[in-house]
Amino acid sequence: MEKRIVLLGPPGTGKGTQAQRLCATLQIPHLAMGDMLRTAMKEDTPVGKLVKPFMDSGNLVPDEIVIKMLLDAMGSLQGYLLDGFPRTVVQAESLKKAINKVILIDTPADVIEKRLSSRRICSKCPSVYNLDSSPPKVANVCDTCTAALVQRIDDMPETIQTRQKRYWQDTSPLIDYYKKAKILWTIDGTQPMEAVTIGIMAAVETENG
Ligand code: AMP
Repeated sequence: MEKRIVLLGPPGTGKGTQAQRLCATLQIPHLAMGDMLRTAMKEDTPVGKLVKPFMDSGNLVPDEIVIKMLLDAMGSLQGYLLDGFPRTVVQAESLKKAINKVILIDTPADVIEKRLSSRRICSKCPSVYNLDSSPPKVANVCDTCTAALVQRIDDMPETIQTRQKRYWQDTSPLIDYYKKAKILWTIDGTQPMEAVTIGIMAAVETENG
């Protein structure tokens, strides 16, 4: 069966990193909603302009905008990994039965807060660093393209809190939603990154039950 996977978990739980690893191993496309939105903002498209205030403040972009973007990106793809979508039950409903496995990377709020405040991203390419667990070789310089590293606007302390609140209020109901559908697998996100990857791979390869 084609793999149609959702990675679920609070912001800062390592979904992006795990998604990149998984997609490289499974050879399926990685559809990262946050990246698509950031690209639209960088390119200053009409959608980019529209979503900027929501993203900068850590709030969710309205459902109709992200649903349309995602469905356009999915096109006629048969297998994929969704990262950062769905974030609400309305978004989940828009996928109908297209998903056959949901992996929850479960990480408590205090661990998340520390991780997000030490995250740095490259100002040019998609590389992501963590000053504690995966720092760049040269301080503040991207290993891949040598551009300067920056902090995401939405990784500032007040915004981190808004994003956590949005997750617990709007997104966490999806845990029960997918539990009921019997396609949810939970991985302990406080483990080292490698162990999380191994746990996710095992869940992906096991039949739902
Ligand atoms: P991320 O990179 O996944 O942490 O997403 C960054 C920001 O993009 C979020 O804080 C939201 O403002 C917006 N965003 C990403 N995915 C969604 C989504 N599925 N629904 C609404 N807003 C989203």
